[in-house]
Amino acid sequence: MTSIPDTYEQSRERFHDDLASVRYLWPVARLNSHSLPGQDDLSIDWISARATKRKDKLLILTTGEHGIEGYVGSAMMQLFLEEYLSRLDPADTGLLLVHIINPWGMKDHRRVNASNVDLNRNFVKEIVPLIPSNPDYAPLDSFLNPPRPFRSPTLHKLALILRLPGLMLSFGIAKFRAATLLGQYRFPKGVYFGGQEIQEETLTMMELYREHVQEYAQVLHLDMHTGYGPRDRMTLVNSCHEKMTSEEAARRFGYPLVAAATAQEFYAIQGDMIDYLYTFMREEFPGKRFYATTFEFGTFGESLWDNIRELRTMIFENRAHWFGARPSARAWLAREFDKLYCPIEPAWLEKAQADTRQAFEGILKAEGYI
Ligand SMILES: [Zn+2]
Repeated sequence: MTSIPDTYEQSRERFHDDLASVRYLWPVARLNSHSLPGQDDLSIDWISARATKRKDKLLILTTGEHGIEGYVGSAMMQLFLEEYLSRLDPADTGLLLVHIINPWGMKDHRRVNASNVDLNRNFVKEIVPLIPSNPDYAPLDSFLNPPRPFRSPTLHKLALILRLPGLMLSFGIAKFRAATLLGQYRFPKGVYFGGQEIQEETLTMMELYREHVQEYAQVLHLDMHTGYGPRDRMTLVNSCHEKMTSEEAARRFGYPLVAAATAQEFYAIQGDMIDYLYTFMREEFPGKRFYATTFEFGTFGESLWDNIRELRTMIFENRAHWFGARPSARAWLAREFDKLYCPIEPAWLEKAQADTRQAFEGILKAEGYI
């Protein structure tokens, strides 16, 4: 069943059961787990299946880099296993299927990990040179990260909306949005914190990528995310390092909605996992064919009002995490956060699955996997 799981544990158990169906086609397939230190009940799990004859192509599918987004990611992993696995050729194609890069975040319904780090701002070689970056974030700190409990949605919404026009006017909307989303390395209790060291989850993934990609001539990587882009539609978000333009990608894959992760088309990010992989592949394996992209399932939408609602939800959730919340305010917030990152309405999921099928079909065909 490609349903959205109720819990992290249920999702992991379902993924463990999937090993049997992968082994049916790749008898060599193995299931591995990496437990996170101090969190023995949580693990990063992956199924690795090497091509049985020639190591021509590797397909990587990853989910849950932003914990809570792993609920939808898990459903899409199931869709892939049920509908596309049997169409690949085990003789020349290998697999690396990763169930939930950030298990703590999935279990706790947060995007970040246990150290408040947004892992998609943490894929860098070194953090130190990034600490002074994004200078526009510091003046926004008191607005983005007020150090007080979350008491009343109505009052806090009002306070936020009264302060916002002044900030947007003095910064300009584009600069304000860029400073917020780019990632920051100075405020550990702040939103979009990229960490002050490379995280265990990040190191585990870097190691896994290195170990797997070196054996294959061609690598294709699809990474599942939720929350941004047009409402109820999936956007393929290409790396700023991808040479193909969005129009070319849309034509090549027969998928209409493609954007590049640049300030003009989507938004720019420091420490992005896919950007890291483009640089890694170019520097270490320049001869290999490589394409990676993000499936971004839109929820709130992308009007100015939608962006404000999304930012508001991020600010409130982070504030409640660090400074506490009244139970009724916390319950409202949990519903709002779930609507943004793991919607469960059947109609939303059906549309997300239809978009995923269209994109899988187009990309796997164009890249020669099916
Ligand atoms: Zn995400």
